[in-house]
Amino acid sequence: MVSYSLNTIHKIVHSIDKSPDLSHALNNLVSGIHKALGVDVCSIYLSDTITRTNILMATQGLNPDAVGKVVLPFEEGLVGLVTELSEPVNISNAPAHPRFKYVPEAGEDPFKSFLGVPVTRQGEQLAVLVVQQTTSRRFGEQEIAFLTTLAALLAGNIAIARARGLIDDYFSTETSGGGVFTGVAGAPGIIIGKGVVHYHNNQIAEVPDRPAASIPEEEERLRAAIEAVVSESKTVGEQLGGTLPATDQLVFNAYALIAGSDQLVNETIERIRAGNWAPGALRDTIESFAARFESLDEPYMRERANDIRSIGQRILGYLFTEEHKEYAYPEKTVLIGENLSPLDLGSVPLEKLAAIVSGHGSAYAHLAILAHALNIPAVLGLAGRVPLNRLDGMTLIVDGYKGQILVSPSQEELSEYQGLIQGEAQLARGMAALKDLPAVTTDGVRIHLYTNTGLLTGHSHAFDVGTEGIGLYRSEVPFMNRDSFPGEEEQRQIYRQVIEAYMPKPVTLRTLDVGGDKVLPYFHRKEPNPFLGWRGIRVVLDHPEMLLTQVRAMLRASEGYDKLKILLPMISNIDELERAMTLIRRAYDHVVSDGYTIRFPEIGAMIEVPSAVYLIDSITRRVDFLSIGTNDLIQYLLAIDRNNEHVAKLFDPLHPPVLEALRLIVDAAHRHAKPVSVCGEAAGDPALTILLIAMRVDSLSVSAGDLPRVKWVIRTLSWTRANELWQQARTMEHASEIRQLMEQELAQQGLSRLVGHGK
Ligand code: PEP
Ligand code: MG
Repeated sequence: MVSYSLNTIHKIVHSIDKSPDLSHALNNLVSGIHKALGVDVCSIYLSDTITRTNILMATQGLNPDAVGKVVLPFEEGLVGLVTELSEPVNISNAPAHPRFKYVPEAGEDPFKSFLGVPVTRQGEQLAVLVVQQTTSRRFGEQEIAFLTTLAALLAGNIAIARARGLIDDYFSTETSGGGVFTGVAGAPGIIIGKGVVHYHNNQIAEVPDRPAASIPEEEERLRAAIEAVVSESKTVGEQLGGTLPATDQLVFNAYALIAGSDQLVNETIERIRAGNWAPGALRDTIESFAARFESLDEPYMRERANDIRSIGQRILGYLFTEEHKEYAYPEKTVLIGENLSPLDLGSVPLEKLAAIVSGHGSAYAHLAILAHALNIPAVLGLAGRVPLNRLDGMTLIVDGYKGQILVSPSQEELSEYQGLIQGEAQLARGMAALKDLPAVTTDGVRIHLYTNTGLLTGHSHAFDVGTEGIGLYRSEVPFMNRDSFPGEEEQRQIYRQVIEAYMPKPVTLRTLDVGGDKVLPYFHRKEPNPFLGWRGIRVVLDHPEMLLTQVRAMLRASEGYDKLKILLPMISNIDELERAMTLIRRAYDHVVSDGYTIRFPEIGAMIEVPSAVYLIDSITRRVDFLSIGTNDLIQYLLAIDRNNEHVAKLFDPLHPPVLEALRLIVDAAHRHAKPVSVCGEAAGDPALTILLIAMRVDSLSVSAGDLPRVKWVIRTLSWTRANELWQQARTMEHASEIRQLMEQELAQQGLSRLVGHGK
């Protein structure tokens, strides 16, 4: 037994991560474990859940020729037993075990003891790690602990190495599809487009692979950039010559030597000649150099990996200063990024942006909200499942219903999806015909349909779908992307533009809701739990001048218009509501004393913190209307971070306690004869729409892209039927049962396409 230290584990994980391809990754893994545990055999079997087989992919100790040839069904062998039990299997005399399967080509005969550990990721079976020894003994607790820790840590790395393997296979054969990868459904819709990886010029790890347009030009560009770094390092070294000790000056010489070394230049040029552009080729060379240093035992040498990366970064900087060409975005751009932010969308002309694919995020993140507003599909949360920076320039099918992407799809997949896209287009035409018709059930219950806005500047899409006004204007954006708060007049102009675009329709402006994931760079407190911290109304009550200025700007913007509503976010107690209302009254008095003639606006409270549900009568009594923010209400009620892809599948608006909270709020509004709206993203979920109709919410405020399908549901159903379904749903304890019930109804009404592919 050699060493089980955390360092050993990290070294093994790292060696996989930095491997150029799947087979290197798995070979590094088995040899790392073989060495650390001092066992006779270490092997890894990848589990294929479609064919339900475990395939030997790498081994240290068994017959190397058996790799790729030993294919065991899940039901067979001890490896299958590990898959079946989803727990370690530890056996001292494997050949005597009833589940032992003799595979002659494996060369297993001499090995008696067997320990197999499953590798799973979010419930998905990925692989089985096996160690074996000739002596007949049971493996000890420490060995099992080491292997299970490693398996848990490795799951993400194995998933990504496997995905990379599929994509690389595609590159080498170009005959079959490059794989289907499932993330989180961010926004509905299906498109076939071309991947464009969004990257930051200063992050070498983010640089995508891209075909070299001209190999000689890319070589030339690389040589010029390297030359620039070599001479820069020498010059800086000389300039600092007088102030630095001689030993430190050597660092600059070393930088110049490494940057200009034949090995670095030649390896990169080789990669360019294989077809990659200079930045992608450089990224791979730098990574393989750094990995070589990182695998060394000597800490000083390991540290040099960082130097290599900073040299790479510097060369990259010069490569991009040479790059002046305007990037020609494909007609159907699928924008891809490890962690795309709403701001990154600005890099693509909107008419070319066809879909969004991001490593992080879930359906309720602001990125997804934007995709809904733009009516384009989004698949999020793919980090650790697919090497996103390899997807540049590839044909992709983005299926925003299933949360899947299909990389370089096969001809059959393309034709299947083309059929679905045509079906969608037909559906969209059907829904567009409803644009000017009211959202009313077949038995006459009217539900007003408004749109959410604020994250995007344009409103045309909202008019195209026949919005009745703005149900939620998120006022944060004018406060973001700048160095200081906008002044009162600047804010007035922004709000006036919004009001004028919609006049005489009602407009609901929400006061500032910063904090959580919406940070103002110039007014930011670092908090361990920002969603439970200084957010929304709490911030502006600590800084009344912010609220006073904003409300004055809103009021002045409403001159000559009498439908302004002001909405207060994150109300969690009565004190906050009363103080905010006092400040609004003060701002109003101020504006009136300045000579403006303005109607006092309607004031509403967002119900999005669970405590507000239990204070609902006291809140409702004090305000003119309620607006339910399901994004936060569900987040806080179910303790599920709305942005976290790892728990995204638990975030279900049909969870019975969520429905019960909605019922309590709507009933209170009715008791007090006050209107109630739902403005979170769940309002655009057709399954929930049925239940909201039944509860008799007065209005829904949804993303423009979701409005047509919500209207279609309302106009197709009767309130009586919706209420029958709601009464049935109330007896159910599982969200999945309720969803099934709603989807059955939608299918019966001929609306199955709204919940997916309608196949
Ligand atoms: C909500 O929480 O549901 C909501 C509409 O507000 P936001 O998404 O801006 O937090
Ligand atoms: Mg909210």
